[in-house]
Amino acid sequence: MTLTRPRTPQITIIGSLNIDFVTATPRCPAAGETLTATSLTVSAGGKGGNQAVACGRSSFTSRTTQDVTVNMIGAVGANDPYYSTLLKPALETSGVDTASIEQSEHAQTGSATIIVEEGSGGENRILVVPGANHAGLMGDMGNIVAALRAQERYPDIVVLQGEIPRETTLSLLSYFNSGEKGAKVAFNPAPVFPDGVPLEKLCGTAVLIMNETEVVQMARSIQGLPVGDVVEGDDLRPEELAPQFHERAGVEIVLITLGAKGVYFSTKTGRTGTVAGVKVAKVVDTTAAGDTFVGYFATAVARFLASGKGLEAFDEEIEAAVSRANSAAAMCVQRRGAMQSIPFAYDLE
Ligand code: ATP
Repeated sequence: MTLTRPRTPQITIIGSLNIDFVTATPRCPAAGETLTATSLTVSAGGKGGNQAVACGRSSFTSRTTQDVTVNMIGAVGANDPYYSTLLKPALETSGVDTASIEQSEHAQTGSATIIVEEGSGGENRILVVPGANHAGLMGDMGNIVAALRAQERYPDIVVLQGEIPRETTLSLLSYFNSGEKGAKVAFNPAPVFPDGVPLEKLCGTAVLIMNETEVVQMARSIQGLPVGDVVEGDDLRPEELAPQFHERAGVEIVLITLGAKGVYFSTKTGRTGTVAGVKVAKVVDTTAAGDTFVGYFATAVARFLASGKGLEAFDEEIEAAVSRANSAAAMCVQRRGAMQSIPFAYDLE
């Protein structure tokens, strides 16, 4: 008798890596004014990096055991001291393989300069320089495919967001959604590209995770409408929006994150529901809550697929997976910062 061993689940995140410079100030300076601010914090970020860290940390079943292989494909500037001292260690201590991160001679590491105005309830002003996230490897589908082929096998799940070039993202959706590669896509269209995602590119996506703004914009996009802004008064009815993604684009699992209210889920086979958010005593900082949710959910799906079961059977496990990802995201909102606020799985026990 031949025994088939379950293989190690594998996730590849293809996305952005940033350094965040957060300056806290009582108020913003006027044009030409110099002001003394309160503090400067430099930290590792970018949605791709955050989600890679969330996938990695969610797979540490104990301090010494990681049951999922997590690879990151991304790009940073060559010889960037912030990469070697901040980003790389944050990824690697979270169990993320960094071998496929390009160190580009021609672009800087992406950055976000964030001004937090303490006097106005913490309002943010953010300037993003995409840098290497929009250059070299990240604009080159051929080299991304080469990096994927260099891995031992195609992953169970490929996780994508909206912070690398639209053309690359659309090519990756086509490449994996054809089904031939055996890897399923978990797509978090955050932010939604100003020109949207055409319906035919979204077709066959396995998991689509959006917040309350993104779902409205993505629904417009697959109807061929301009993405536009979402303003108060634009209706969010998850139960009306979610079916469009199943019916028009054949998306298997749609998840709409609702902040403190939790998550609405809907599957192609017709299972729907809301899993309430975890009540927390004090919300400290919601940064990376969405990324934590995405990473934890992607890990649950990767484990399931690696056990040899088809995604349609995941219906039985979806509520438990959403609930665990909610718990992880709720822990994240009780801690300050982005990457450093993402919990390890053993923290949740
Ligand atoms: P962010 O941009 O802040 O990372 P997002 O807009 O992508 O977040 P949200 O829907 O705000 O996504 O939050 C994602 C998940 O984080 C929620 O579904 C929930 O599980 C958790 N969460 C967010 N806010 C809270 C909160 N106040 N209390 C408990 N859980 C929360």
